[in-house]
Amino acid sequence: MGDYVNRLMAQLVAKNPGEPEFHQAVQEVAESVELALTRNPRYVDAKVFERTIEPERVVMFRVPWVDDRGDVQINRGFRVEMSSAIGPYKGGLRFHPTVYLGLLKFLAFEQVFKNALTTLPMGAGKGGADFDPKGKSEGEVMRFCQSFMTELQRHIGQFTDVPAGDIGVGGREIGYLFGQYKRIRNEFTGVLTGKGLNWGGSLIRPEATGYGAVYFAEEMLKTRDESLEDKTCLVSGAGNVAQYTVEKLLDLGAKPVTLSDSGGFIYDKDGIDREKLAYVMDLKNVRRGRIMEYAEKYPGVDWTAVDPAKHYNPLWAIPADCAFPSATQNEINAEDASNLLAGGVYVVSEGANMPTVPTGIEAFLGARILYGPGKAANAGGVAVSGLEMAQNSARRAWSRGTVDERLHAIMQAIHDTCRSTAEEYGVAGNYMHGANIAGFTKVADAMLDQGVV
Ligand code: NAP
Repeated sequence: MGDYVNRLMAQLVAKNPGEPEFHQAVQEVAESVELALTRNPRYVDAKVFERTIEPERVVMFRVPWVDDRGDVQINRGFRVEMSSAIGPYKGGLRFHPTVYLGLLKFLAFEQVFKNALTTLPMGAGKGGADFDPKGKSEGEVMRFCQSFMTELQRHIGQFTDVPAGDIGVGGREIGYLFGQYKRIRNEFTGVLTGKGLNWGGSLIRPEATGYGAVYFAEEMLKTRDESLEDKTCLVSGAGNVAQYTVEKLLDLGAKPVTLSDSGGFIYDKDGIDREKLAYVMDLKNVRRGRIMEYAEKYPGVDWTAVDPAKHYNPLWAIPADCAFPSATQNEINAEDASNLLAGGVYVVSEGANMPTVPTGIEAFLGARILYGPGKAANAGGVAVSGLEMAQNSARRAWSRGTVDERLHAIMQAIHDTCRSTAEEYGVAGNYMHGANIAGFTKVADAMLDQGVV
């Protein structure tokens, strides 16, 4: 069956040139799925996996807008509708200068398996634009969002495709996007998730991805009769996922010591406490500043600027017990992975999507540490998006406690599914294979039921 993956990958690369992140994501899942294909020839006959790697639909469009100086700017917008086998397309929007079709295809592909794991009926999609909100005025961000939605609204809807946030798209952007959708379509529906609390949003949605990644780590530790109490934790990023990862780590008695952004990272040996976290939230979400300012405010904190000449990120060489990569894809390379292991890290719970390169994953699996892959560990965000859709449909708003309890139960269920699936397929302890196979078989069975579509 090794031949199967080789053939599939050769065709994929030929048909989707210049999309290395998409190739990487498919290769990882294909290697796991081989195990399921061997057991179920119906998947092979119906070419289920071959269909899964071809998006159902891709929309690419012009996003023109006028900046504060009166100059016309043009960005490129996308929506990749990957799979509707088990529900409406669902997945975030990313606004970042690195966005291109291949990046969104990788993210949409990951979303297929992640959404299947949540236990909720959600298909998969991803979208965004090569727009950088950093350094833009409020007015510019609003005008960009309005222009983006003027086209996107033709393709989405509460029963077809329900986008959410991702890098560069937080509560502010979702607000502007929702306002424009409502204005054009003249309907108030749950077409986006991550909405504001007083206009259809769910409690715990902003917290969900970070909290979920910590709940997942907690479940992995429980299998060794351990907890997060007093564990030293490395966190990368300083955005939505990183902030709420730190908050939940503090709730559970752990000690987060790092945060980063694209400029570099801070290392606070004393630990990032609640007061310092409140400072970070204000810095990043309100003042939209740089994480370097943390080191200027708090004495004794080390600041390390990004050094493009270095082949590794020194953040991952700090001695610790756990790591929560929460910034972006491929932020842990092979050298970083070996530095993490050498520094004592034995729990990795991925808040970001595909933050570890394949050779890094191999090193983690080879060392038999507790490695929680992104599509399982960061599924809490989309899970609570699913709960937001349920509340919108029922015209109800659940309490903070209710949503958090459901999130916690979903993360426990995802953990248990990954673990038991890995055991069932003879790869006990391998959460990556467990997540890929469990997600795939759920979608594959639905595709068999629905015929060749
Ligand atoms: P965010 O609020 O925009 O924060 C992203 C953080 O990562 C920022 O600190 C940013 O620094 C840093 N970052 C982004 N790209 C970078 C790059 N190329 N190099 C270095 N640093 C970079 O985004 P987020 O929602 O927290 O998302 C973080 C990760 O979690 C992403 O991989 C995303 O796909 C994943 N994720 C998010 C959710 C969700 O619910 N939001 C759900 C599942 C997975 P700068 O500000 O300097 O760019």
